[in-house]
Amino acid sequence: MIKLTLKDSSVREIENAMPAAEVVKGIGMGLYKAACAVKLDGKVCDLRTAIENDCTFEVLTFDDKDGKHTFRHSAAHLLAQAVKALYPDAKLATGPATDTGFFYDFNVEKPFTSDDLEKIEKKMKELTKEGLGIERFELSPEEAIKLMTERNEPLKIELINKHVSQGDKLSFYKQGDFVDLCAGPHLMSMSPIKAFKLTACTGAYWMGNAEGPQLSRIYGTAFPKASELEEYLKAVEEAKLRDHNKIGRELEFFTTVDYIGQGLPIMLPKGARVIQLLQRWVEDEEQKRGYLLTKTPFMAKRDLYKISGHWDHYREGMFILGDPDDETKECYALRPMTCPFQYQVFLNRQRSYRDLPMRLGETSTLFRNEDSGEMHGLIRVRQFTISEGHLVLRPDQLEEEFRGCLDLANYILDTLGMRDDVTYRFSQWDPDNTAKYEGTAEQWDEAQGVMKKILDHIGLDYEIGIDEAAFYGPKLDIQMKNVHGKEDTIVTIQIDMLLAKKFGMEYIDADGSRKIPYIIHRTSLGCYERTLALLIEKYAGALPLWLSSTQVEIMPISDAQLEYATTLYNKLDTAGIRAHIDNRNEKIGYKIRQAQLEKVPYMLVIGDKEIESGAVAVRSRKTGETEVMSADELVSKLLIEIATKAL
Ligand SMILES: [Zn+2]
Ligand SMILES: [Zn+2]
Repeated sequence: MIKLTLKDSSVREIENAMPAAEVVKGIGMGLYKAACAVKLDGKVCDLRTAIENDCTFEVLTFDDKDGKHTFRHSAAHLLAQAVKALYPDAKLATGPATDTGFFYDFNVEKPFTSDDLEKIEKKMKELTKEGLGIERFELSPEEAIKLMTERNEPLKIELINKHVSQGDKLSFYKQGDFVDLCAGPHLMSMSPIKAFKLTACTGAYWMGNAEGPQLSRIYGTAFPKASELEEYLKAVEEAKLRDHNKIGRELEFFTTVDYIGQGLPIMLPKGARVIQLLQRWVEDEEQKRGYLLTKTPFMAKRDLYKISGHWDHYREGMFILGDPDDETKECYALRPMTCPFQYQVFLNRQRSYRDLPMRLGETSTLFRNEDSGEMHGLIRVRQFTISEGHLVLRPDQLEEEFRGCLDLANYILDTLGMRDDVTYRFSQWDPDNTAKYEGTAEQWDEAQGVMKKILDHIGLDYEIGIDEAAFYGPKLDIQMKNVHGKEDTIVTIQIDMLLAKKFGMEYIDADGSRKIPYIIHRTSLGCYERTLALLIEKYAGALPLWLSSTQVEIMPISDAQLEYATTLYNKLDTAGIRAHIDNRNEKIGYKIRQAQLEKVPYMLVIGDKEIESGAVAVRSRKTGETEVMSADELVSKLLIEIATKAL
């Protein structure tokens, strides 16, 4: 008897070994039809996998991330089958699923164009109608190379050699006359792949190597239902309209200039104002929470980075001023992080246990020499400003202070209306890639163990990211996706047990002994530029009132109302409300349209009627309604909306 523990903790028993697919059928045919793969003892497996031993047994459908991947990876095979049918000389590379769909890379004489995509998509439709079953088989290295030689797939032979050297099994998947070397998992047949779309084609490198053959990549996405595909494509179109890299420029939040450089945006008055407002707010909030403000240099001699480890682990990412290899001359580097600078504040005099926790905060501009291919609007830049902070702690303060950091980050995300859009990632080191990291396996186990305990104690729902840690310690990264579905970190909280020792940071404990403190590295609002980008995308440029650079547009119908408009302006200005008078010699309809395009939260149209009654007609961007009220009422209404940071 084999015992299977299902997701709801119930136990299912089977008499004899059988494929997972048969087990799922036994649970229900409806579930079998929706099943894409199974998770056995936490490992994603093919439905064809034989169940021979007791295990935990979870059925993965398209609603699960891994189920979706299996479904879409199968669609990538369908794409490759269609390409081989139409272009028999195309050589297969690889075709994984992505977060939003799948792609497949091919080596072809002539790169694919959008015309080709239409043809290929049509062929895929024909093929999927055949409802071909997918078979899996394994071959020995010799047989595998023989098969791929016969089929003239040189890149697959390279992959076989690589897998063999790693001791992997060589599995193949076959549908119709199409065969692909692949680890799987895959669906049982092609028939569930009913709704798909090829979305783009680009160039790609074989195994990421710029020296190797240039490949042609086709992107697509797939869903079980046509309605889901339609909904997705519509959302993609809408997202493009919210892309900060497009509307952020159109609405004049920022610009870039070729001869200044990539990743070095110019903040225009509108964008600069938002960042100023965010900074003031964060600095004030941190002060309330017991942070001490510091201000440290933007650069330092290489000597500092040698102590911190940046010289060994992060030099590629730094802008260096001087010859890094000439030790006879001074060499400086722009700072990629504030940590080693802020530690000097702690080191300024002897500290006792009573001085801890010491919470240091700084609105800090950093410089990172990232790949130009990575640059994207305000999300990936080479100079950016973050609310950086370091907490120096006794071990007994670690959990409470960690909670405090998380609470501050969540408060900020809540206020900006982004809390529901983020996910939490526990970023760990990679024990197989230790060269990237400082410290020993024991130190990492300890730091990660401490962090895991705290996260589990808080009850936070998080994913684990292997090889995503900082070089000095594990991180809790708060992740958010942009409109293109690309995920970036917006806030990070890190536990560090290594750097304090390197800098000789110590405190005198209650018993008189010298102790090395823990350090939490954290941001409360990660990168201001990135946050602005995500705010622009979230609100399609229509930022909440408190963050709008122009909060009220005053629009006199003609010059006859200019004086009254100025009186209103002064009243708002005195109250600290950012107003602007549109005194251009334009028709009022034009002025209103302009203010709408500029996404100004409130518009005041001033005609003779308003002057006579001493009232104002206030048009709200949010409701689209016009309300008549006194100027005093308007001021108090806006002040409340600003003070509460209403969304
Ligand atoms: Zn595959
Ligand atoms: Zn730091």
